[in-house]
Amino acid sequence: MDKIPFNKPHLTGNETAYIKEAVSSGKISGNGAFTKKCQAFFRERYGFKKALLTTSCTDALEMCALLADIQPGDEVIIPSYTFVSTALAFVRQGAVIKFADSRSDHPGINEESIESLISDKTKAIVPVHYAGIACDMDLIMNLANQHDLLVIEDAAQAIESNYKGHPLGSIGNLAAFSFHETKNINAGEGGLLAINDERFIDRSEIIWEKGTNRAAFFRGEIDKYGWVDTGSSFLPSELTAAFLWAQIENLEKIQQRRKEIWNLYYDRLSLAADDFGIQIPVIPEYATNNGHMFYLVCKSEEQRTGLIDYLNKSNILAVFHYQSLHKSHFYKDRYEGPELPYADKYTDRLVRLPFYYRLSDEEILKITSHVNEYFSQSP
Ligand SMILES: *Cc1c(COP(=O)(O)O)cnc(C)c1O
Repeated sequence: MDKIPFNKPHLTGNETAYIKEAVSSGKISGNGAFTKKCQAFFRERYGFKKALLTTSCTDALEMCALLADIQPGDEVIIPSYTFVSTALAFVRQGAVIKFADSRSDHPGINEESIESLISDKTKAIVPVHYAGIACDMDLIMNLANQHDLLVIEDAAQAIESNYKGHPLGSIGNLAAFSFHETKNINAGEGGLLAINDERFIDRSEIIWEKGTNRAAFFRGEIDKYGWVDTGSSFLPSELTAAFLWAQIENLEKIQQRRKEIWNLYYDRLSLAADDFGIQIPVIPEYATNNGHMFYLVCKSEEQRTGLIDYLNKSNILAVFHYQSLHKSHFYKDRYEGPELPYADKYTDRLVRLPFYYRLSDEEILKITSHVNEYFSQSP
């Protein structure tokens, strides 16, 4: 059998046809017909007040930091167990990051720990919906309202997932999604900024287009455009949007299969969880599962290394995930907070199994048999 990779970006079939269409239309820079179609789709499906395609989720988070007007010395609360970009976007504005620990039952932010991190310098809370599973947003939104803070959802992994019936990304003031090739729908590289707070609508479009009021000009609202604010070139070309449109058209089909894959993993591995003391994903009653990722949390780092090696010998590529950001080379010397034992636990012990649209049932059975075999032998 061929090697089973960790990820294979899924091509739905129409990507190159739509790129060709964009090329023949003569408009291939950003904010053209495909961009507008994608943005309208997300706005309508998830109820955002505004949606802007970006070249990555990292870019969308950088736009959030600009919109939130983060100044040097401002504090932002972020889980330590997350991707670099969640913190980097704010660090670039001079923010001090207050790292929060993960939950004991889930790698997401420990909502109960957030309040103790709030000070009079805090500007924003950035919850990350790890594995597409919602943070407890009522707790977070209540805290934010009490202390007059912004909530910026890192929904990079969270497309098509809900919190108490509300789409993730539609709850905070702002949210960022990713269409990186490892995400449920992809454009190679790509992202989306979702705006739910009307105060940010006008400025978002300006920041998106290099600090100019170009978008308003093309709508005929003003008679010449110029430099009015800070910003950058955050918008993707029509080639990216055309590719993404093909993915969007297949969103439900992709989601259906990804959830089947997740459920098959779950059914085949929940026994291991009980018998061998391995932690598997839990979906709180307020959350849904969007089939983004399937992970296990081993009993020790040695056990995880053993599992990854064992699977690798059978041509199965399983991988670990984040390294706690408060212990990263970049941040460790300025970190002044307490130990974050759960962020460290997931750093050392979490492993992700292969997960992509074309992963077959047969392959999942092979993977799960090997996982169960390993745990039944592992000390
Ligand atoms: C993938 C990811 C990002 C970054 O997305 P890009 O589109 O690659 O910039 C940020 N945060 C989280 C939680 C992610 O999973």
